[in-house]
Amino acid sequence: MLTGNAIRARFLKFFADRDHTIVTSSSLVPHNDPTLLFTNAGMNQFKDCFLGDEKRAYVRAASSQKCVRAGGKHNDLENVGRTARHHTFFEMLGNFSFGDYFKKEAIAYAWDFLTRDMGLDKERLYVSVYTDDDEAADIWHHQEGVPRERIFRFEEDNFWAMGDTGPCGPCSEIFYDNGPEVGCDSPDCTVGCDCDRYMEIWNNVFMQFDRKADGTLVPLPKPAVDTGMGLERITTVMQGVQSNYDTDLLRNIIAFIEQLCGKSYGEDNENDVSMRVIADHSRAAAYLIADGVLPSNEGRGYVLRRIMRRAMRHAKMLGLDDPVLHKTAVFVLTSMAEAYPEEAARKDFVARVVLNEEERFIQTLGNGLRILQEEVARLAGSPGKTIPGETVFKLYDTYGFPLDLTADIVEKDGYSIDEPGFEACMKEQRNKAREHWKGSGEEAVAAIYKRLVDQGVKTTFSGYLKLEDQGNVL
Ligand code: ATP
Ligand code: MG
Ligand code: MG
Ligand code: MG
Repeated sequence: MLTGNAIRARFLKFFADRDHTIVTSSSLVPHNDPTLLFTNAGMNQFKDCFLGDEKRAYVRAASSQKCVRAGGKHNDLENVGRTARHHTFFEMLGNFSFGDYFKKEAIAYAWDFLTRDMGLDKERLYVSVYTDDDEAADIWHHQEGVPRERIFRFEEDNFWAMGDTGPCGPCSEIFYDNGPEVGCDSPDCTVGCDCDRYMEIWNNVFMQFDRKADGTLVPLPKPAVDTGMGLERITTVMQGVQSNYDTDLLRNIIAFIEQLCGKSYGEDNENDVSMRVIADHSRAAAYLIADGVLPSNEGRGYVLRRIMRRAMRHAKMLGLDDPVLHKTAVFVLTSMAEAYPEEAARKDFVARVVLNEEERFIQTLGNGLRILQEEVARLAGSPGKTIPGETVFKLYDTYGFPLDLTADIVEKDGYSIDEPGFEACMKEQRNKAREHWKGSGEEAVAAIYKRLVDQGVKTTFSGYLKLEDQGNVL
């Protein structure tokens, strides 16, 4: 069996052998790019090369990039635990051409890697192109021999953009048929269906435009190629399993969680979802903190806090009342040390930040959950099935429940939350606060983290204290 680590190495070697410079993953915190919440694709660190604003010593590159999709244009937070293929944190394998090769070569490389190097069965592969991209469709058909009926055309899904502005272009994607066992029951289930059967594994973007703030598409100086393949997804295919969570990249984290809670994965659907969420969110939290994000009440720090609080609630559902996430986060960093040694070296710091966050929230989590249960019981039988804004606000304000956490908890009972009602309460509180401003209390928390930084990894990493300006990116 090829391990995830081996697949990552094989990918990079394949492109190194074809004159690509191997570039290490950049931080999850985008460098100098206020348009982006977290690094969401391999191309982020090359954005200026695509735009023609930066020249490098190479025109071909390949990387394995840490990505987080938990906010902004690409947001998979709600998918985690529910699909077999989405994470908040994942690794994206990519090859890039900055005005060098274009569609013909990119398609040939991708097909060669999958069908020769990885030895995948062509009968299980499908591709898609942008609606009017006859050029790409013809390359797939004539050059690679893909039958026409296996080439799909989509509009929205085949135009990739990094964000609301920046490099973008038509793209061509490759899908792997996981088999009817993992499909949905729809008679129309085919490539493009949202279920896990026809799993998108690789996106080849033909970068041609820079989208401006007013929406206009300005052609790039030179057409370029940007590709992204989820390491966890190709590993699922290569290991013959049906879910990313069953690959060696994630299954060992789940095994660690099984040990902690004394429950077995695969026996109870709700427990399984919780274990998957904890495994995924532990990876996201570990790498976000290792890359310098700290929990806070705004911006990137709040996304991190929301991810951690969701994970804490799932740990509680598994019967884990004491803090465990600091352990799972360290487990993650240690078990991925081969690929990410620098982050692994920061594990003590990460553990302290996570434990501090756990200790702050665990106290109120139980109380908040009880209030929510009472509210659901009180509303039972009432028609609307909506949790009132005041309750949502109380949970937020007094018990530290982010909005999405409350929504997620009540969803399985068929409830939604009154968001406008919540917003109204927020507004009222803000007005009151303006009248009686005495400081937010966040200063004390910031001081705790600053102390941790001072005691912690100062010698190996010094990026934490420059983060004050991050709050404004949302
Ligand atoms: P999907 O349609 O499955 O949500 P996507 O079209 O949003 O994927 P792209 O933006 O095209 O994904 O990213 C390139 C590749 O990165 C995808 O083909 C997939 O292999 C991988 N990928 C994207 N999102 C995730 C995720 N949340 N978790 C794991 N892998 C992902
Ligand atoms: Mg997506
Ligand atoms: Mg897609
Ligand atoms: Mg895609």
